Amino acid sequence: MKSHQELQNQLNELIRIGSDIVARQLTKASAGNLSVRDPDREDVMLITGTGTWLDDLGQSSFVRMSLSGEILEGDLQPSSEWRMHAEIYKMRKDASSVIHAHPKYSVLLDAINREIRFFTLDHISYVRSYGASPFAPNASDQLASGVAGNFRTHDVVIMSHHGVVTCGETPKWAYRKLLNMEDSAEMTYRALMLGDKDSGFPKDQTLSVHN
Ligand SMILES: [Zn+2]
Repeated sequence: MKSHQELQNQLNELIRIGSDIVARQLTKASAGNLSVRDPDREDVMLITGTGTWLDDLGQSSFVRMSLSGEILEGDLQPSSEWRMHAEIYKMRKDASSVIHAHPKYSVLLDAINREIRFFTLDHISYVRSYGASPFAPNASDQLASGVAGNFRTHDVVIMSHHGVVTCGETPKWAYRKLLNMEDSAEMTYRALMLGDKDSGFPKDQTLSVHN
C-alpha cells in the first residue's frame, strides 16, 4: 500500500513536470517522454504513452511495462523511445526516474560543437557533468545503447540533433538536472554572443562543491 501511494505521488510529480516542460518551451507538440521505475519491481517502469502531449498528462497516460518490452498495463502503446529509458534503468540501479525533452540551447550548442560551460553553483551542483551521444535514428537500439553508455559516468546526456535525457532518484531530481543543463547552455550561448569564449565557474572551487 505504501509503495502504491509512492508510485501515485511520483506519477503526479511527472504530470506537473510535463506541464512545466511545455510552459518553459523545453519541448514542442508531443515530443518528449517521462518515466518512473515501479517502486515494487526494479525491472518494471511506467512511461508516457506514444503521442501523449506533456502538458495534457493524466494517470492513464502512462503504460506499465517491463524493461524487456512486455506491456503489463495501460491502454496506450509506450513512447517510441521506451528502449532508451529501459537501458538507462538497467545501467543505473540508483535511478528511479528518467526525463527526456528537446531543449533548444543544449541541442544547438552541441550541434555547432560548442562546449557547454557551467557558470553558477546550481550548474555545478546539479548537472556536475554531461555526456553527448552521436545522432542515431529515433527509437533505434543504437540510440538506446549509445545514450545509456553515457550514463555510466553522467546523469545528463545530450542526444545530438535531438534532445536531452536525465536520470535521478526522483522525478524532481531528474527535472532539476534538465533545467540546469538548459540554463548552462543558455548562459553559454549568451556569453558567446558577448564574445566570451572561456569564462565559467572557478575551476579551483569545483571540487569543494562536490565534496
Ligand atoms: Zn525525443
